[in-house]
Amino acid sequence: MTARQSILDVALKNLEKTTATLEGEVNVELLDTLRLPRERIELTLTPELSGGRIVPFKAFIVRHSDAIGPAKGGIRMTADVSVDDVGGLAMEMTWKCALIGVPFGGGKSGIVAEAHKLNEHDKETLVRSFAHNARRHIGPQIYVPAPDMGTNEADMGHIKDSISYAMGQATTPGCYVTGKPVILGGIPGRREATGRGVVMCVAHAVESLDMDMTSITAIVQGYGNVGSVAAHTLVELGATVVGVSDEFGAIYNSDGLDVAALSLHVKEAQTVRGFAGSKEIDGGELLEIPCDVLVPAATAGQITAANAPNIQARIIAEGANSPTAPEADGILADRGVLVIPDILCNAGGVFVSYLEYTQETQQEQMTVEQVQQRLSERMGERFSQVRQFALERKLPMREAAMHIAVKTVCEALEARGYQP
Ligand code: NAD
Repeated sequence: MTARQSILDVALKNLEKTTATLEGEVNVELLDTLRLPRERIELTLTPELSGGRIVPFKAFIVRHSDAIGPAKGGIRMTADVSVDDVGGLAMEMTWKCALIGVPFGGGKSGIVAEAHKLNEHDKETLVRSFAHNARRHIGPQIYVPAPDMGTNEADMGHIKDSISYAMGQATTPGCYVTGKPVILGGIPGRREATGRGVVMCVAHAVESLDMDMTSITAIVQGYGNVGSVAAHTLVELGATVVGVSDEFGAIYNSDGLDVAALSLHVKEAQTVRGFAGSKEIDGGELLEIPCDVLVPAATAGQITAANAPNIQARIIAEGANSPTAPEADGILADRGVLVIPDILCNAGGVFVSYLEYTQETQQEQMTVEQVQQRLSERMGERFSQVRQFALERKLPMREAAMHIAVKTVCEALEARGYQP
């Protein structure tokens, strides 16, 4: 098996393609500056874990751009996260925030650890160690983290507590972290926002292709936060979810999976495997099974030049960040597959994080209904903008989304003016 390219390599290739479509529209020297991050930090965490073990963990923080505002982006805790992955994800966050229209720049963090192998106590200790060591790089006007793969609401609560404690205050003034528990200033509906936003995009794509949500079949890769919420929301809108997978394997049933029962099974078994009423198949094979909508909602580099020719889906909705290699994009476009790019498709999470940020700054509280209404309006608006631009300029949706986003960031840089 060939090693996957880093997320930074993918992000740079996508930026390169955009540079061609932006020629004559922006100052190319600005595009060169956007190839590099503003700040790239490597940390060594040395928490004391259960049994008194002192274990070193590597961690990274990258702030790619603060042209539009403080950096925003999640904390990934996986065994294979690299500084280049974090750099690529931070760059993607810059484009995503600009595209979805929130006043943030792009950032990301990574902690090299197998989240699911840590017991609850050790995970909390590691997260607090990250908060302690990263403290001077985090803040409402610097970088505001959120959950990503391997981290969740509870972890964000611990980060808020660690930073408040370090500041000697009951609670931090302003928003230091989003995706927190509601009781700690989090916002209802944040956990579901990314998965729901993905399906809102799917619904618009289905409509624009004259298809009907109630007669489509879907396959979801990854059954964590984004994937499981996407699967539930697809079913809520009448679609049939025929297959899902996680890092341990994949399951399939051509008549549809009972996702409510599946989520109960996953709670118990910690995997989708072994779910009654489904057959187990290979995770790679799942991506190539005929279906209308494929939702990669796991990790990067899943759709490549090798499997793109075999993918049968009419729509690919990128719940994950960077799931498609640039080499696969051309193949999918030639085959008429509509790819809803990550920087649009999974932007619901950062949009609702922005609502959480404003709620906390203004000491207000929003209801879940208000959050869902705002999310639905924004996703619909930005989907239409990108789709229309793609049709006008005869571009794949990724190139259209990148064009709009990168141009917006360049406009912000021009408006700020240049530093000595
Ligand atoms: P998570 O840790 O909750 O879930 C990840 C899921 O993917 C798990 O089910 C895991 O078993 C599975 N997985 C990992 N490798 C796999 C593989 N090779 N094949 C199949 N399944 C695999 O993470 P999440 O928060 O749901 O994030 C999933 C993706 O969505 C990531 O790419 C993340 O960057 C992106 N994303 C998340 C958010 C958010 O709000 N959580 C926002 C935007 C984008």
